[in-house]
Amino acid sequence: MSVFENDAFKHHESVHFFSDESTGLQAIIAIHSSVLGPALGGCRVVNYADSHEALEDVLRLSRGMSFKNSLAELELGGGKSVIIPPKNWNGDPRHDGKGRAELFRSFGRAVQSLGGRYIAAEDMNVSVEDAQNMALETDYVVGLDVARGGMGDPSPLTAEGVFLGIRACVRRAFKTDSLDGLTVSVQGLGKVGWRLCEDLHAAGARLIVADIVPETTARAARLFGAKVVDTDAIVTIKADVFAPCARGAVINDDTIGALDVRVVAGSANNQLSHGALGHDLMQRGIIYAPDYVINAGGVINIAPETKGQVNHEWVSKKIKKMEDIVGEIVDEAMKSNRSTNDVANEIATRRILDARDSGRAWKPAFVKKPTLRQSA
Ligand code: NAD
Repeated sequence: MSVFENDAFKHHESVHFFSDESTGLQAIIAIHSSVLGPALGGCRVVNYADSHEALEDVLRLSRGMSFKNSLAELELGGGKSVIIPPKNWNGDPRHDGKGRAELFRSFGRAVQSLGGRYIAAEDMNVSVEDAQNMALETDYVVGLDVARGGMGDPSPLTAEGVFLGIRACVRRAFKTDSLDGLTVSVQGLGKVGWRLCEDLHAAGARLIVADIVPETTARAARLFGAKVVDTDAIVTIKADVFAPCARGAVINDDTIGALDVRVVAGSANNQLSHGALGHDLMQRGIIYAPDYVINAGGVINIAPETKGQVNHEWVSKKIKKMEDIVGEIVDEAMKSNRSTNDVANEIATRRILDARDSGRAWKPAFVKKPTLRQSA
């Protein structure tokens, strides 16, 4: 595959391939931008069909991280990493047997070799334990748990940001500040989705839920009086708000025509299978909270760790602003007749380019060149 001509590669600063025969590590780290600061983004382990698919995924995701970190006004650039599971894991990215700890230590050495230009964190199939193993070899990993001096699980903060983002959209769609009596459909009752349901239920919303784990939906029915529907039905069921909190590409060319809501606002990454769907949503009168804007609570939570700090107060203040940020993007989209994702991309890109063009780009503090001494 050509690299520089590849659309997904466009605007990336660098892409790094690592392999370590002693641990079976095969990994790619993509740095999309380090203009605003070191490139922060999670590491995922996925059973890709081949290395081309892994490359496409990491390039797409690292670009998204640049936008997310820029829009959240963090002093961080965007990057991402993927690990291809070694053959002896038999296609199981969550393999917890022999060799897992060594593999993540090996990945930690790869991260360290970039001298702080990339900072890793957890993503799909990478646990706090895995991050801790990376930390044995690198200074550049965050998302560690509280007992180990980290900021802890980001999911409750992500859920809080999503709740506030939903409120911003509801205010614009229904001219009310209250969620009381509104119906919200939630796809995925995991760490974020469940917490969001708790907040929505407390705010008086009626819930419709779906998850592939029946015990979870049964619990939601019991505790929140939620109506449970099939995982296929949830995307197109009639509701006021749809909150995708499971997986990407739920809004696609097949589903968009059947959406029956006024607002789409949830935590899942890459909710639109392609960007033009943002425009289609707008045409259909549906307010869409761009995913990387509304789900930034998680990255905001780990941002202090990148400076070696634990600062829950700063995080809490920053999350509270998310209602305004989502609202301003929706207002600008309505005013300029553009999709919310186009508006968000433009703001995020402008911040990066302004910093670059005005000479404020972050510069990595690489190891100083040793002073040469004249031999006598
Ligand atoms: P999770 O793995 O804890 O939860 C996902 C839930 O979705 C699980 O309960 C799973 O059973 C369910 N699910 C999977 N496939 C489904 C399907 N087809 N239909 C319905 N339910 C399905 O993940 P999470 O941490 O809650 O994250 C949810 C989403 O938000 C993910 O897309 C994640 O990338 C994104 N996100 C999470 C955070 C965070 O802080 N955790 C931050 C930013 C973005």
